[in-house]
Amino acid sequence: MSKVKKSGKACHVFAVANQKGGVGKTTTAINLAASLAADGAKVVLLDMDPQGNASTGLGVDYDSRKGGSYALLMHEKVADDLLQPTEIENLSVVAANTELVGAEIELVDAEHRETRLRTALEPLRETVDFVIIDCPPSLGLLTLNSFVAADGVLAPLQCEFFALEGLGHLVKTIGRVQKNLNPELKMAGIVLTMYDRRNNLSELVAADARSFFGKDVLETVIPRNIRISEAQSHGQPVMLYDSRASGTTAYQALAAEVMKRASVS
Ligand code: ADP
Ligand code: MG
Repeated sequence: MSKVKKSGKACHVFAVANQKGGVGKTTTAINLAASLAADGAKVVLLDMDPQGNASTGLGVDYDSRKGGSYALLMHEKVADDLLQPTEIENLSVVAANTELVGAEIELVDAEHRETRLRTALEPLRETVDFVIIDCPPSLGLLTLNSFVAADGVLAPLQCEFFALEGLGHLVKTIGRVQKNLNPELKMAGIVLTMYDRRNNLSELVAADARSFFGKDVLETVIPRNIRISEAQSHGQPVMLYDSRASGTTAYQALAAEVMKRASVS
């Protein structure tokens, strides 16, 4: 699936996307990135959401956010100069600050407006194993740039009413990007999130998703677990906040599944 580095190892770039808000994109980006890094991979989380929740959720305070993903997208700085460390050794962040809010509009008239992020990420592909992009809740130019830069899209699906609504649109967008801008792009997997065992609806949504999208739905299911959201408010991935939480185990399983799929595709 992904380009091979000079070292012989492939780098995988995943965009975590769904145009719905509150479905678990940021949570999945943070905890997947942290789990991959804990397994020894070199990982960069790229925060492409102007709200900057992934940056905050990894403890990057606002004042230290250099030019962040805006400077990367606008080719003002190179990725290497924008990486910020996290509590996890192998995990760095390109943070998002409010400048990114204006980027969609600034890009409208820009040259190569869909491929800017792809170009900016090329050098990183030589030095890291995974780039996880946290996308905003829309299918605008920031998400489009992420899809053009990525090898695969991971789509969190909240196990709630109307969850499947809109997923068809996302799949169509992936198809359009494949056709026109990035033939390498794949649906890397739909991730069922906030699954509540005590709620029949969760089971119904999960079953619906599996019958509709088949193998595109990953086996790992992320449970609703309060420790996950508590961890975020402490600026930590859940694995550091509570190593025994169900959310920690689930995101470790997700990382293993994503790694396995990436290595065979
Ligand atoms: P998005 O990035 O798609 O808008 P978030 O990842 O920010 O969604 O999640 C929305 C809210 O739900 C956040 O407050 C987050 O802490 C919470 N949340 C996400 N996943 C879980 C989970 N598995 N269990 C409990 N709370 C969760
Ligand atoms: Mg988010």
